[in-house]
Amino acid sequence: LQGHAESLSDASVRHFSSASSPQTNSTEENGFKGHGMLAPFTAGWQSNDVHPLVIERSEGSYVYDINGNKYLDSLAGLWCTALGGSEPRLVKAATDQLNKLPFYHSFWNRTTKPTLDLADDLLSMFTASKMGKAFFTNSGSEANDSHVKLVWYYNNALGRPNKKKFIARSKAYHGSTLISASLTGLPALHQKFDLPAPFVLHTDCPHYWRFHLPGETEEEFATRLAKNLEDLILKEGPETIAAFIAEPVMGAGGVIPPPKTYFDKVQAVVKKYDILFIVDEVITAFGRLGTMFGSDMYNIKPDLVTLAKALSSAYVPIGATLVSPEIAAVVDSQSNKLGSFAHGFTYSGHPVACAVAIEALKIYRERNIPDHVKQIAPRFQEGTKAFAGSPIVGEIRGVGLILGTEFANNKSRDDPFPAEWGVGAIFGQECQKRGMLVRVAGDSIMMSPPLTMTPGEVDELVSIYGEAMKSTEERVA
Ligand code: PLP
Repeated sequence: LQGHAESLSDASVRHFSSASSPQTNSTEENGFKGHGMLAPFTAGWQSNDVHPLVIERSEGSYVYDINGNKYLDSLAGLWCTALGGSEPRLVKAATDQLNKLPFYHSFWNRTTKPTLDLADDLLSMFTASKMGKAFFTNSGSEANDSHVKLVWYYNNALGRPNKKKFIARSKAYHGSTLISASLTGLPALHQKFDLPAPFVLHTDCPHYWRFHLPGETEEEFATRLAKNLEDLILKEGPETIAAFIAEPVMGAGGVIPPPKTYFDKVQAVVKKYDILFIVDEVITAFGRLGTMFGSDMYNIKPDLVTLAKALSSAYVPIGATLVSPEIAAVVDSQSNKLGSFAHGFTYSGHPVACAVAIEALKIYRERNIPDHVKQIAPRFQEGTKAFAGSPIVGEIRGVGLILGTEFANNKSRDDPFPAEWGVGAIFGQECQKRGMLVRVAGDSIMMSPPLTMTPGEVDELVSIYGEAMKSTEERVA
């Protein structure tokens, strides 16, 4: 496109970038000021100059703000309310457990029954490779931090004190604590935070559309990336590299499914140098891609697995790390030598969180949620990808119930729209005006709706997506 976006003042672009819209700007009327919170992933001006969108209630695939406006929640909260916003079985599991035992910890070989049961459930459900033990956290970030500590503990026990570095990928998202933010490959999480930590290295982002060479096939692209990974390992010294971490489909980096053969090739490299494979399934677990786990879809055989979000359908905070039987055995013997495994959180294996997670897992299996996703995914994928020809779209990509849309000038990956046009933000605003919330990150749009969506809701999502696309085209042309 050679045209110009309708002239946007700096301030209006800023407003387009916010989660707010005119219809939600009456928080003060409702008695909210909202300036007291240091809000996650929010610019200071957003919470000072614009009223937040305050969500009050949810029902199935929809959320309602404090002014009664209804939105189709196309990101399922933050990629997490997999069973929608009003599943009575999860509420009952929580209240039953709250009434019976609201809390007991899991330190020093004391624990609760839901905690023990959930660990067994997870070990039996994850079948891509055999897992030996589950450790519980409150979040995905804590689970990834725990992986790093577990891997260091393991390598120290094996007498390999130099095998401590981690390789993650550019554009990966693994969390925002010190270590998980280091593993994350997004500059915004590093800049001015003195990150990443020096033991974390980043290798290529596997985004074929953006990074392939002229004439290179997906398979050749995957081969080149695996070779780059091997070169990095050899340059650093394989004896210094402890683990490689990857999301089956990159989420917050823009929804990036792997190119064909990618995981076969990188797994072969990692295995060759005795490097552990951590699969971060925080977004992909429990049916998102149409298989129970992302590892099932891409034939990943991990040594460690990260879980959170849909583990409880996000009704209560919980994360988990699964470790292979070999790692579990070494951790056991090291802990015997030292007197304990000195790692854990007050709320590791919280009984209410575990009770809700047990019920969520039951629902995923009983209702065969991965199969439901498989059934409705073509409607979602084909419906949205029908707009791939739009002159403002660079790429629409996704699998199952996860989708990324990237806007580009002249449909070229090398010709981004000027940031001040706020094209992604305009699209987000057009969706919100029509009653749908999407994730906007620059000119990248992300969606991962509840897995329980009905075909009619998918049609509604696609219809709003299409109308918003048309309006955005008109405003940008
Ligand atoms: N890993 C992945 C793949 C994620 O998408 C996220 C969160 O979006 C995390 C880890 C971090 O999880 P949490 O925000 O629960 O700490």
